[in-house]
Amino acid sequence: MTTRPCLILFGPPGSGKGTQAKLLRDKLGMAHISTGDMLRERVVLAKQEGSTDELGKAVAAIMQSGGLVSDELVNKMVEDRIEQPDAANGFILDGYPRTVAQAQLLDCVLKGKKIRTVVVYLKVDYNVIIARLSGRRQCPTCGALYSVSANSPVVSEVCDYDGSKLIVRDDDREEVVLQRLKAYESQTAPVLDCLKSAGYRIFDVQGDLRPPQVIAREIEESIQREFGTARA
Ligand code: AMP
Repeated sequence: MTTRPCLILFGPPGSGKGTQAKLLRDKLGMAHISTGDMLRERVVLAKQEGSTDELGKAVAAIMQSGGLVSDELVNKMVEDRIEQPDAANGFILDGYPRTVAQAQLLDCVLKGKKIRTVVVYLKVDYNVIIARLSGRRQCPTCGALYSVSANSPVVSEVCDYDGSKLIVRDDDREEVVLQRLKAYESQTAPVLDCLKSAGYRIFDVQGDLRPPQVIAREIEESIQREFGTARA
């Protein structure tokens, strides 16, 4: 019996995890699970007039400061999410795990459910990250990501897919970006060693300079080799 696969996209903020996850989910037929997107959805609801979601409001404040929300909340969100029907054929984790405690919980879940897992580490130069995050734009309707330099929309500041006016995410402001990178260095970077020690195969992929589609192709080839013909 083959079990469903899991791809963990690992890397610093701005390394292209979201862009790659969106390209790969369609090619591979796997669900895209982004803890950042799930938290942003909760924050939008919590900010609506009359909302009593105090936890959602607290999450908003943490995200705006560039820090990480609690392991407990994120772990529960992911455990529930991977049981949704669209994840039955496999799933891509984008932005999770981000702490050693999250990695430990995930390791138990993956091994407990015998989910075949590989990790792709998107390596990107620090200066490229800063440039990318400060020039990043997102469609508030469909979530598509653009960059004012490399991957700009056809019409400036307008989404190619649905015509919405693009926005700068709150946490892509410069002072918040620096905090997010600090959180990555201190809390998230150690996760890679933790995943290695737990026995997961890690593929290093150069995440800058090349077009996103070329990077996606390289990831796809690595995954198909690892997961075998079941994903071909
Ligand atoms: P992202 O879109 O993945 O860059 O996430 C945006 C923000 O959401 C982060 O800066 C954190 O505040 C929060 N966040 C996303 N994923 C996690 C996670 N796995 N653990 C804790 N906080 C997270």
